Amino acid sequence: MPAKVVGEDKVKKQPSFVKPWLGLKYLFKKPVTIKIPYEKIDPAPKYRGFHTLDWKKCIGCNFCGQICPARAIEMTWIEVDGKLEKRPHPKIDYGRCTFCQFCVDVCPTGALGFVESYILTTTGDEEELQLYDWVPIPPDKFKEIQEEFGDWRFPVERIEFNKDTKEMTYHLRNGEIFKFKIVGYGLRPPAKPQPKKEENKS
Ligand code: SF4
Ligand code: SF4
Repeated sequence: MPAKVVGEDKVKKQPSFVKPWLGLKYLFKKPVTIKIPYEKIDPAPKYRGFHTLDWKKCIGCNFCGQICPARAIEMTWIEVDGKLEKRPHPKIDYGRCTFCQFCVDVCPTGALGFVESYILTTTGDEEELQLYDWVPIPPDKFKEIQEEFGDWRFPVERIEFNKDTKEMTYHLRNGEIFKFKIVGYGLRPPAKPQPKKEENKS
């Protein structure tokens, strides 16, 4: 069927001297501005915000890492209280993530989720930039912090990573501390440190 073309005479407006002045009526109407930070606007339910990870449910299948169009997920081996987790968990880089949440849709166990929180601002300091790269915290903890503050901000105030001990410390906004070690990356478990061979003394 050929496309119907509307004649130019139907859409072309006649120039008018009076019509632009009709805009003055808005001078007397209530402005639609939202005065942030004194007023706030809540995101829609299921707004695609930061991730949550149920560490107990994650089976380290890497489906999330495979589907991620931005290559923002890296599987990460974690040690909690001196005990290596049986499977790797995803670490998400918010410098790359597009918040498409394909990773959440594909997760077979429902371990990966998200909440509506979406605000994260930092300076360019290296320590602050660390906030953009994290293994998400469990959903209960994230939601508890969101309910306490109600401002849709990232739940971690500061992340410290000790390069020597590999210890990661999350300083949560409610004052709690969340600690673990990152002992390796990728799908293969990290190699166990080999005991040093004693040199033969002859
Ligand atoms: S939300 Fe999308 S871009 Fe971000 S980590 Fe998940 S799959 Fe990757
Ligand atoms: S978060 Fe889900 S998809 Fe990703 S490794 Fe864990 S179980 Fe697999």
